[in-house]
Amino acid sequence: MKKILQDLTYPELEELVLSLGEKKFRAKQLYEGLMQGKAIDEITSLSKAFKERLCEEYENAPVRIKETFFSADGTEKYLFEYADGNLVEGVLMKYKYGYTQCVSTQVGCRMGCKFCASTLGGLIRNLTAGEILSQILVVNALHKKDAVGQGKEARAVTNVVLMGSGEPLDNYDEVLRFLRNVTAEGGLCISARNISLSTCGIVPKMYRLADEGIPLNLTVSLHATDDETRARTMPVAKAYKIAEILKACEYYFKKTGRRYYFEYTLIEGENCDETHAKALVELLKGKPCHVNLIRLNEVKERSLKALGDKDAYRFLGMLEKGGLSATLRRQIGVDIGGACGQLRASYLDETTEK
Ligand code: SAH
Repeated sequence: MKKILQDLTYPELEELVLSLGEKKFRAKQLYEGLMQGKAIDEITSLSKAFKERLCEEYENAPVRIKETFFSADGTEKYLFEYADGNLVEGVLMKYKYGYTQCVSTQVGCRMGCKFCASTLGGLIRNLTAGEILSQILVVNALHKKDAVGQGKEARAVTNVVLMGSGEPLDNYDEVLRFLRNVTAEGGLCISARNISLSTCGIVPKMYRLADEGIPLNLTVSLHATDDETRARTMPVAKAYKIAEILKACEYYFKKTGRRYYFEYTLIEGENCDETHAKALVELLKGKPCHVNLIRLNEVKERSLKALGDKDAYRFLGMLEKGGLSATLRRQIGVDIGGACGQLRASYLDETTEK
């Protein structure tokens, strides 16, 4: 596979341009073109010879949108194809204040959560920083006319959530490089405060992330109130206990001053009766955190069932009554397979069935 220009920081790009015997200002033109989501050969300010030279070593376009699915509620779902043919998916949610894009960090996942479609075929490979960034660059370019903000910083995608396929902290170095690049001034310049990173709770990496000093929103997939129940759906729970996760969250708060978030997917008969609500209140009471309740998107390969709407609101009510800050996440994009990994899994199914 060729290398990827979008992996590079601006100073690294400048060094590359100079090493190829080009003037320094060409780096700026190249960087601007890339940040506009252009393929190398689409950047008109650069000479054909220089672009050809770059394309000998670097992917002309690391990712392309293979298919787009439109939900009735405006949500868009993309199937991205990388240069090696691997597929990942992404979702764009349109809100009044801007667009939030959900990005994938790995092809597949090795965490093995029972409710999740991303993990069905295990981990295929990590994505590089530039491959992750490119998901946003192409979608942002597609929606150029909806850009908000001033001048060079005008962009359609204003918020990013790392909640697509993959476990971000299992691909730590590339994800970190992606975070540095996506927040970089002169680039997409998306504020870290508008970025949420969701993890199944890889404790040592949570500490490392806290020490990086990036004020993003840390979100932990909790989905249970005791380790035994958690381990039934999340194998990672055998390695890291809930108590250790909570300690790491406290550390994150101390280091960044940012409150943290928990995701709690409601699975019928598993984690959402009254005793679980009470246990969750006990566990999180008084902590600087917010709980996002998620409705289970039933994955056809798994037997787990979603909780009914009425019971979901009842569960939310019990948390609120106990003093927790909590919301039940609005379900969007259900008609287009909103849950992570569902689209890729169904696509691979269809292509193998043929
Ligand atoms: N690996 C990261 C990101 C995963 S996706 C993590 O584990 O946090 C973001 C959230 O969606 C996680 O909380 C994940 O547990 C949840 N999720 C995965 N599959 C789901 C499904 N079928 N229905 C509802 N939530 C799901």
